[in-house]
Amino acid sequence: MRIGCHLSSSRGFLAMGKEAVSIGADTFQFFTRNPRGSKAKSLDEKDVEAYRGYAAEHGIGVIVAHAPYTLNPCSADPRVREFAQLTLADDLKRMEHLPGNLYNFHPGSHVGQGVERGIELIADLLNEILTEEQHTTVLLETMAGKGSEVGSHFEELAAILERVTLRENMGVCLDTCHIYDAGYDIVQDLDGVLEEFDRVIGLKWLRAVHVNDSKNPIGSHKDRHEKIGEGNIGYEALWRLVHHPALAQLPFCLETPNELDGYAEEIRRLRQPVL
Ligand code: FE
Ligand code: FE
Ligand code: ZN
Repeated sequence: MRIGCHLSSSRGFLAMGKEAVSIGADTFQFFTRNPRGSKAKSLDEKDVEAYRGYAAEHGIGVIVAHAPYTLNPCSADPRVREFAQLTLADDLKRMEHLPGNLYNFHPGSHVGQGVERGIELIADLLNEILTEEQHTTVLLETMAGKGSEVGSHFEELAAILERVTLRENMGVCLDTCHIYDAGYDIVQDLDGVLEEFDRVIGLKWLRAVHVNDSKNPIGSHKDRHEKIGEGNIGYEALWRLVHHPALAQLPFCLETPNELDGYAEEIRRLRQPVL
């Protein structure tokens, strides 16, 4: 099983790699820039080079970059959409320094324009920025359905993918807290939810999983992450998910409210071979 957690990128890639190894992780996620702000530090080539060597040596596999969550690719304001487009395109360019990894983003909120229009705007934006030459797979994250968020139904993500020309450069990142809050019962019927994902989107498009417990009950549309085993999903359901044979090849990333020692313990518990 490949599992890790969200790490701070402020000290660079080599530092993240070392941090990951120190907590028993063999993947990790990081924000490409300050999640609230917009400025991205220029990539330090030496750091990236050192990271690559370190990652190969220590068995760190595919990693997940996360776009700032304040972007709205389907805003009603064209300037807000343009900013999202420029940021995503710039991040993708930077990701080429670490080819073969994943770049996850939130589809956005349609802010009253309707989900159909939201889907159209997101796909249009992706069609502007994806290139045949890129070596990064861009992931749509499943959302909790807070406010007017697009992506809380598998059908919406499928509809976006259908409209994207360079679909082979795309995938989906499943967030356990988000889909539970969206109403998918991964506690009572994990197989049913995965079958539904397969029927509606196709499991071949699933490329990463965010493993989080939820502070709120199923269908609450809240998106408040909880530590593993301290929320409404619970340790057992999350253990079953990370050990599910259909998901065995995917990187799992914790985004729970933890410091490093808390993450280390969650990784250790989830890796246990029996419940
Ligand atoms: Fe996210
Ligand atoms: Fe997430
Ligand atoms: Zn979330």
